[in-house]
Amino acid sequence: MSALKQGHLPDLKLGCIADDFTGATDLANNLVRSGMRVVQTIGVPTSPLAAGVDAVVVALKSRTLPAAEAIAQSLEALRWLQAQGAQQIYFKYCSTFDSTPEGNIGPVTEALMDALHTDFTIATPAFPDNGRTVFKGYLFAGHVLLNESGMQNHPLTPMTDPNLVRVMQAQTRRKVGLIDYKTVAQGEAAIHERIAALRAEGVGVAVVDATSNDDLHRLGPALKGMPLLTAGSGVAIGLPANFGLQPSAQASQLPAAKGLQAVVSGSCSVATNAQVAHFKANGQPALAIHPGSLMHGQSNAVVQQVLAWAAPLLKDGPLLVYSTAEPEAVKAAQAQLGVAEAGALVEHALAAVARGLVDLGVQQLVVAGGETSGACVQALGIAQLQIGPQIDPGVPWCHAPSPNGGVHITLKSGNFGSEDFFTNAFKVLA
Ligand code: ADP
Repeated sequence: MSALKQGHLPDLKLGCIADDFTGATDLANNLVRSGMRVVQTIGVPTSPLAAGVDAVVVALKSRTLPAAEAIAQSLEALRWLQAQGAQQIYFKYCSTFDSTPEGNIGPVTEALMDALHTDFTIATPAFPDNGRTVFKGYLFAGHVLLNESGMQNHPLTPMTDPNLVRVMQAQTRRKVGLIDYKTVAQGEAAIHERIAALRAEGVGVAVVDATSNDDLHRLGPALKGMPLLTAGSGVAIGLPANFGLQPSAQASQLPAAKGLQAVVSGSCSVATNAQVAHFKANGQPALAIHPGSLMHGQSNAVVQQVLAWAAPLLKDGPLLVYSTAEPEAVKAAQAQLGVAEAGALVEHALAAVARGLVDLGVQQLVVAGGETSGACVQALGIAQLQIGPQIDPGVPWCHAPSPNGGVHITLKSGNFGSEDFFTNAFKVLA
């Protein structure tokens, strides 16, 4: 604190820029578990960092924006992080490399490289704890290649090519190369050597293989001092040690939970469909919102109906409001409304439901879906989240302080979480 009082910046080690909200908490979770004190901000803060933390994750909602807008927001986040004294920058994207052929992973990476005057960075979405592994540049989700995992049907960023060197090269002017599993297995010196060789070949971005946490721990030391890292959340587990930090229980402590419980789900991923089915099969109250019902200015009326349904039920335990649907139904809604319009209508409605539920006394809220989480967090006016204990790999509880005691909230990325996530989450918090 004395350094702060004297007007110096806090000791910020890692400055992170995440392209969606659930991705930001996923990264923050891994950093906390590796011993860093972490604050996640919603968007780029307008004031300086107030407390001493080891890492800040700036959560953007830039994954599916036009590339120019995603770049502008990412550069604004970079400038703020630099002003706070961040020693290394980490651009975080999804562990399924969610992007369109236009980006935004490639364009944002290049803009950050230019701004940081660096000619080399890595790219790897590997997150073995969650079944995301990269082998010979190919991304696996669980036991199957990315394009067989359900991601080929994603409403906004369908992923049809599992070869990340190809996917990245299609989005980048810089040459893309590979640091393969054999090099990673040999550790820091071999990785340094490979990086030097790639640089000499004019490679600016190297996809890195990693099939285990051991790989990520071997990679970590080789990344010390690299101005920019681009990755999913997995790479984070190998970084705190570079700053002399070890895992500690204090890093994840949150205030005690209170208030009513609810789940809002707008993810249509395979995992979320199974979680919704599990919650319903358990006999717990659940209400579906259909995109078509929100057309012609009906959204507010639908939201009011949902809240009227929820109000008397909340005292009996968690309930679920969802637009989650199987691929066929999503395609039908998109054909009727257009892809962007269907997404926007549903996000807006679910965010209004989340706001209404909190107004009804909900203080423990599960949100499923990256874009959905972004919309809900914005509707709740949340500016900052303290990162707490993990529920499932990649998904921690968080706490958003407010004068009336605050809200515990968890932002679940579509494909994350066990089948009983919607009930288990509340048990973890209790
Ligand atoms: P995930 O984390 O699984 O990718 P997101 O919330 O990021 O989930 O993305 C899901 C997108 O699909 C959102 O834009 C959401 O509004 C939209 N969506 C949700 N339900 C439906 C539906 N039934 N039909 C069409 N689009 C939907």
